[in-house]
Amino acid sequence: MYVNVPAPAACPGCQQPLRHVVLEGHYAKAVQVELCAACHLVWFDAFESVRLSGLGWVQLLRAMLQQPVSQAVLPPKMACVRCHSALVGVHNQTRFGHSAAMECRQGHGQLQTFTLLLAERGLLRAVLPVDRSSLAAEGRVFQCLQCGAADHAPQAKECVYCESPLLMVDVPRLASALLVRHGDVLQLEPDANPLALSCRGCGQSLNPTAQTQCPNCDHGVAWSDLASVRPLLDAVEPLLLAQQPREARPWGTRLRERQGDPRETQFYRFLKHANLVSPAQENASLHPEEAPPDLGWSTVWQLLVLVLVVLFTMATCRG
Ligand SMILES: [Zn+2]
Ligand SMILES: [Zn+2]
Ligand SMILES: [Zn+2]
Ligand SMILES: [Zn+2]
Repeated sequence: MYVNVPAPAACPGCQQPLRHVVLEGHYAKAVQVELCAACHLVWFDAFESVRLSGLGWVQLLRAMLQQPVSQAVLPPKMACVRCHSALVGVHNQTRFGHSAAMECRQGHGQLQTFTLLLAERGLLRAVLPVDRSSLAAEGRVFQCLQCGAADHAPQAKECVYCESPLLMVDVPRLASALLVRHGDVLQLEPDANPLALSCRGCGQSLNPTAQTQCPNCDHGVAWSDLASVRPLLDAVEPLLLAQQPREARPWGTRLRERQGDPRETQFYRFLKHANLVSPAQENASLHPEEAPPDLGWSTVWQLLVLVLVVLFTMATCRG
């Protein structure tokens, strides 16, 4: 696939070159983004759709995982990567709640942190008390997804270091978002569990699209860091690559199907152009088996001749 690659722009956070990434959107449309893994920032050009296929999400998350924890402190003011004018904060209302981004006033695009981008797409959720106990049982601590900071007050909603909302990966939502390609949900066997992940409490196999708690040991599925996502990406990627578009048909199929169809002749096209094809006739050639009785040309001619005969008779009678 040929993709027009612009010159690398500088990251508005650290001024290092942004990484250009081409992601698969819905129906294999290419979505181009630029990101800085060190600052956990993504830049979307104006009008660039964020509707990614499952494979697009795998590609984006893998690029994000180059540096799972960002130590970068973002400057309070950041500039557009295209025109270098100051970006302004905007709040978006999405179906998953509020989200924020930085936008260029000239319409060049939007800058988002990884956390806010994932939250906007509904892939993150609020922290529950049970999450903290699950993490404690695993010997982990709750981390800010954006900057990795760990010492937060139990009721804190925002990270005191980077001011990002404190959220966790919504594992069933993410797993479901990953299982889509070519506009279709992946067709899986009803009882298959191809994304099986093992419970961090007892090792039992869990289905990440549906189970948030282990039925065997009650341990919760709690992912408060980006690195937890990696085994899910490894499990889903081969399934996505194997998925073919549903409507894909070999070349020439349509041509062969239309052979012997009267509508494919030049004469038919001429009649249609001159408005000489009645809807009934068109329908008859489309569905010969359910065509209504023919009230075509012969009937019209017969009526016309009849009318002429009547008029002629009336004229001669008067005379
Ligand atoms: Zn950066
Ligand atoms: Zn701009
Ligand atoms: Zn933080
Ligand atoms: Zn378990």
